[in-house]
Amino acid sequence: MVNYYSDRRILVTGGAGFLGSHLCERLLSDGHEVICVDNCFTGPKQNIERLLGHPKFEFIRHDITLPLCLEMDEIYNLACPASPVHYQYNPIKTIKTNIHGALNMLGLAKRTKSKILQASTSEVYGDPTVHPQPESYWGRVNPIGIRSCYDEGKRCAETLFFDYHRQHGLNIKVARIFNTYGPRMHPNDGRVVSNFIVQALKGHPLTVYGDGSQTRSFCYVDDLVDGLIRVMNSRDGFTGPVNLGNPGEFTIRELAETIIDMTGSGSKIDFKPLPSDDPTQRKPDIALAKKEMGWEPKVGLEPGLEKTIGYFRGLIA
Ligand code: NAD
Ligand code: UDP
Ligand code: UDP
Repeated sequence: MVNYYSDRRILVTGGAGFLGSHLCERLLSDGHEVICVDNCFTGPKQNIERLLGHPKFEFIRHDITLPLCLEMDEIYNLACPASPVHYQYNPIKTIKTNIHGALNMLGLAKRTKSKILQASTSEVYGDPTVHPQPESYWGRVNPIGIRSCYDEGKRCAETLFFDYHRQHGLNIKVARIFNTYGPRMHPNDGRVVSNFIVQALKGHPLTVYGDGSQTRSFCYVDDLVDGLIRVMNSRDGFTGPVNLGNPGEFTIRELAETIIDMTGSGSKIDFKPLPSDDPTQRKPDIALAKKEMGWEPKVGLEPGLEKTIGYFRGLIA
């Protein structure tokens, strides 16, 4: 399409969410026109408040399970609740967002000949038996458990992306995102980093599920946003899927102790039951992202937590 006003017009679905709001900000600062589409289920409008007056920014409150008619050059499809508490609140809606939402965005990309990127997830690997997880691993996912609405929804969305690519020649990119944290995470969304920081700052016990020996790899939001943009701009013909995450691996108990230490909190650890199907280990193999896009995270856990703790301190004050 002809676009006289900027390099590119870019649609970000889920643009009012944690990752989406950082992505919109970065795309605007790179000089692009940005359309943010969000139903504000888990992304409060405050996340994008400071962007609303920007001449190249537009916000549309819309649910992507319904058709959408717009013109653009690129689509980042991020709309979907990401924390287990939020995606299990209405699991059928989560599936609809993943599948009907992906279909609508793919239909939109097909009509407008836009390049389209799917925000997929490390959850497609389920509770993995291969460690660290390369993109070639097919995963071990429970199809009927409480996490399935998200895990299987995201797996089916990947299938749809690849079928639109094969059947209609769509220019697709699929990024598998591992646990990402940073400022603007929702303080009540139940994810581990936000929970622990808020608990530590309030002097409440840190709720470690299970014995805390399960592992996760935590990527700082700026690194992840940089990775998403590199995936979108990767060479023609490169579709992914490609892992984006920080390969540093920590047990949940180590994370709790680090956060208690860094906040100077007197909080204790309170062990709670482990939710069902909670993966025991997770760590990305990022060799493909390094090779294809020269991407690797730059922000280590402690500097990233420092910035995130600063954000939550301000929020709580
Ligand atoms: P988030 O919940 O903060 O953001 C999701 C956004 O999507 C919210 O603004 C929400 O209101 C919006 N949304 C949900 N359903 C919608 C619908 N039907 N129509 C329109 N908008 C809708 O979550 P996040 O952490 O920013 O995650 C963004 C994307 O990245 C998600 O697709 C998620 O699955 C993926 N992801 C995130 C992580 C992570 O660690 N943050 C890890 C893996 C994958
Ligand atoms: N779609 C949309 N916006 C568009 C084009 C399509 O929301 O600009 C939706 C459309 O409603 C359909 C889905 O995308 O449900 C898939 O579209 P496609 O053209 O691939 O399939 P079809 O409409 O032939 O079923
Ligand atoms: N977790 C925890 N306490 C909390 C929240 C989460 O111990 O208050 C654990 C959770 O059981 C999981 C890990 O931390 O093992 C990461 O959880 P999160 O919900 O952040 O992400 P996901 O399980 O989707 O990776």
